[in-house]
Amino acid sequence: MTSTDSKPLFERMALIGAGLIGSSLARVVRRDGLAGHIAVAARSQATLDTMTDLGLADSATLDAAEAVRDADLIVLCTPLGTYEAIAKTIASALKPGAIVSDVGSCKESMFTDVAPHLPDGVHMVPGHPVAGTEHSGPEAGFAELFDGRWCILTPVPDTDQDAVDKVADLWRQCGMDVEIMDAAHHDQVLALTSHLPHLIAYTIVGTATDLEDDLKKEVFKYSASGFRDFTRIAASDPVMWRDILIKNSSAVLDVLGRFTEDLTSLQRAIRRGEAGTLEDHFTRTRAIRRGVIDAKQD
Ligand code: NAP
Repeated sequence: MTSTDSKPLFERMALIGAGLIGSSLARVVRRDGLAGHIAVAARSQATLDTMTDLGLADSATLDAAEAVRDADLIVLCTPLGTYEAIAKTIASALKPGAIVSDVGSCKESMFTDVAPHLPDGVHMVPGHPVAGTEHSGPEAGFAELFDGRWCILTPVPDTDQDAVDKVADLWRQCGMDVEIMDAAHHDQVLALTSHLPHLIAYTIVGTATDLEDDLKKEVFKYSASGFRDFTRIAASDPVMWRDILIKNSSAVLDVLGRFTEDLTSLQRAIRRGEAGTLEDHFTRTRAIRRGVIDAKQD
């Protein structure tokens, strides 16, 4: 089912949180008329005012329960650490048949922190649009953010199919390809493709900032040699990344263990001057880059 001129995909959609992801979604929903009413809740009045000024909120409130009342779709677009408190706040205001979804980077959180508080008759369809930038806030959003990227949905198998289809339709309208996946599997995959790379970037940039002053100046001066790309990733929102690494700690610690072993073996190859080992390794990783480009995810 997709939206038509006469009937939007959702009568009333509530966005809890309107930063980079929430406001980008609101831009698409507004542009394509996917919801009859966009209700926005955030933590600060400044964000609500910005969303209203941008024409992206039909109603705006600091009270998440007020935003979700009568909504047929609710999307949590806040850091993972807020989920449980928000779920408790909105639970009694949800109407029967409402769909509760999210955009969080770790999918088990919906099952541990949100599901236990949802009343019977409400459908939960967790989602993760795998698209983003290092910028935050409602003004950082843009409608094209999701174009050509993957959105992973992680409903349990007996979830109402109509609810899953509607959430899938929403993200397809955003230009995304939709994949259904088990939440634990999602968290393992993303630990490697996203969470570990961010942790490495935070570590390298931290190492550089701990250097003596004269060396530090040189690091910034010659940063175009590779360091610059890490600084972009390490500029991502600190609260969001704190929550991702804590909520997905078991999968992150697992891939971190593997990474540390591999790093140690490269360290040994460098110490022993094993040129062939290094060249073989770098040749294999170069092929991975080609695969990313071929998959249009570069
Ligand atoms: P963001 O730009 O920092 O926006 C977060 C929003 O959440 C803000 O509007 C903030 O309100 C609101 N908020 C925070 N605590 C709240 C609370 N207790 N109650 C109500 N609203 C609250 O973050 P983002 O980058 O959009 O990320 C949001 C979610 O998307 C995260 O779960 C993240 O894992 C996921 N995600 C992010 C990316 C990415 O690249 N950024 C990509 C995919 C998924 P105020 O503005 O009023 O403080």
